[in-house]
This record gives sequence, structure tokens and C-alpha cells, in this order.
Amino acid sequence: MKVAFFSTKSYDRQSFDKLLPRHKHEFTYFDPKLDSITAALAEGHDAICTFVNDHLDKAALTRLSEIGVSNIVLRCAGYNQVDLEKASELGFKICRVPAYSPEAVAEHALALIMTLARKTHKAYNRVRENNYSLEGLTGFNINGKTTGVIGTGAIGKAFCKIMLGIGCKVLAYDIKENEELKKLGVIYMPLDELLPQSDIISLHCPLNSDTHHLIDQQRLSQMKEGVVLINTSRGALIESKAVIQALKTKKVGNLGIDVYEQEEDLFFQNRSEEILQDEDIARLMTFPNVLITGHQAFLTNEALYQISATTLKNLDELAEGKSLTNEVKWNN
Ligand code: NAD
Repeated sequence: MKVAFFSTKSYDRQSFDKLLPRHKHEFTYFDPKLDSITAALAEGHDAICTFVNDHLDKAALTRLSEIGVSNIVLRCAGYNQVDLEKASELGFKICRVPAYSPEAVAEHALALIMTLARKTHKAYNRVRENNYSLEGLTGFNINGKTTGVIGTGAIGKAFCKIMLGIGCKVLAYDIKENEELKKLGVIYMPLDELLPQSDIISLHCPLNSDTHHLIDQQRLSQMKEGVVLINTSRGALIESKAVIQALKTKKVGNLGIDVYEQEEDLFFQNRSEEILQDEDIARLMTFPNVLITGHQAFLTNEALYQISATTLKNLDELAEGKSLTNEVKWNN
């Protein structure tokens, strides 16, 4: 298949180019994000390959359909960025990478917690400035704390195991309970009961119409005073303005986010020469107890290998007209 690859980064190209010789596909790498205008770049290709912030809305899908593209391979797990109803109406076949390395994301959630707990980001800068003062670096133990996990699919499950291993009591909320986790000691309960009991809360459910702003002003008010809130899933699970307010009142004691509600026009680019226009992220960055990373939880060698291997397998199945192992369908 001829594949138009959008939002290309050097690490994508390296990992796909390593595996491409084993497959019969031809890739054209494009730097721009996919939207209704850049969709034109895909002319002459059979498929497009896109990432989390590529816009697969009605306008882009219509444009792609007009120029003869009929296959979409998402090199990510989430598919909230795709208008599935429109894609289905236009007859697109869509595949994704359901689980490339759940441990990569779960370990990044742990990295955020550990950094916030022990202020290693501040210590690193201090020591480099020949400042060995410990003032202001008092942290807290993670062992013995209660961790609430929202969403115990592939990533949530890996995260539960890590937190059990570190000596936490682990509570969970999911619309589908996992028997293996229950046997390991994870206690499922309704969200309203999990929120007030958890010292640390980590979000691992997908973003959809049910979970949009799952963490809003009302849910924040149910949490423990000084809770550690972690989001490595999708930005819009948390209402940014509400969490800013909760940080100001100290309801949220630490916030670690790898994803941000309005990340679409910010992340994955070097914007260090630009004037930051987004007031919410600017405010978030002023808090000493907020740690933000730019959607890098997936970025390990192991995950990149798995993303390219599964995406190429998805393309093989599409090209050979086989049944699709990782198909995403409207209403599935
Ligand atoms: P998954 O599908 O394996 O698990 C999602 C879990 O959430 C499932 O158990 C599901 O039952 C549960 N769920 C669905 N709706 C829910 C609701 N309303 N309330 C509570 N639980 C609900 O997905 P995964 O592979 O574990 O990934 C989770 C999310 O992590 C993805 O949707 C994606 O947005 C995000 N992610 C982020 C990165 C990153 O780099 N930051 C990388 C990969 C995935």
C-alpha cells in the first residue's frame, strides 16, 4: 500500500524504516498534522497513518474520501480524535494499535508520582547550581498510601501491579472489573467511594462522551485534601479550570499530567521562541507542585517498536483483504 504518514517525528521514521523492508508498503513521510487542508497531501496514497493529535473530523475525512483514500491506520491506542460515525458513513477501514506497551505509560505515571513525591526535578536543578540545601525538599512516602485507579484496562492494570508492588493499597473504578486484579488485592468500588479514600488518583480510562471532564469541580470536591492527581490518559478527562481552582485552594496537593485538555495546538513541537497564548497551561506552570510532560508516556524504544510492528501488520491485513485484528468500528 502507498501510505501517507502524517505528523512525522524523527523517532517515528527511525522505527518504521527499520521494519519497512520486511513489508510491501511504500511510505511518504509528511511533517504536518492531518487536517482538512493537509489531507490533500495524501492524494495518490491508499492509506494514511496518523497519531493522537491528527484531526480526523468530518471535513478531513470528506477530503480524504474525495481524493480516494479509504484506509486509516492509527499509530496509537486511543481513537477519540476520529469522527467514527462519519468515517463509517464514508466507508473507511480503520485500525489502531490497541496495546503497544502498557508498561511504558504505567511507568511514566509512576515517574510523575515519584518526581512529585521526592521533588527530584527541583533537586536536579539545585545541585547543578552548587546548591545543596535541603530546604523545601521534604517529600512523602508512596509506600502505605492508598492509590485510586480509574480505568483498569491494559495500562491501568500494569499501573495497579506497580502500585501494589510499591506497597500501596489499591482501589479501582472501571465499568468492567478485572478478576486477575481482584485476586492480586485490588478493591473495586464506585467512583464516589474511591475519590474520598485515595491519597493518589491516576486516570487510565479512555476519553469519550461519558468521561469528558470526568474530573470536574464536583468530583474534585469529593477528593482528599492534598490529593496527588495523575493523568497520563487524555487531557479532557480533567477540566483544566476546575483543577487550577483546586490547586489554588490546596485541595489538589500535587498534579502530574502528561496530557492536557488543550494540548492539540501545543504539544509535539518546539515552541520555545513563541509567546505562549494558552492561559490555562501558563497558570498550571506557575504552581510549584505541578509537573507537566508533553505526551511522552508512550515514548520508549519498546513501545515504538511495537507501534511500528502492529501498524505494519494492520497495513498487511488491509492490503490482503484479510479480517482485521485491530479494527476500530463505529459503535464498537
Ligand atoms: P484499555 O482500552 O485497555 O483500557 C481502558 C479501560 O477503561 C477499560 O478497562 C475500560 O473498561 C475502562 N473504561 C471505559 N470507560 C470507562 C469509564 N467511563 N469509567 C471508568 N473506566 C472506563 O486502554 P489502555 O490501553 O489501558 O489505555 C488507556 C488510555 O490511555 C487510552 O484511552 C489513551 O487515551 C491513553 N494513552 C495515553 C498514552 C500516552 O502516551 N500518554 C499512551 C497510550 C494510551
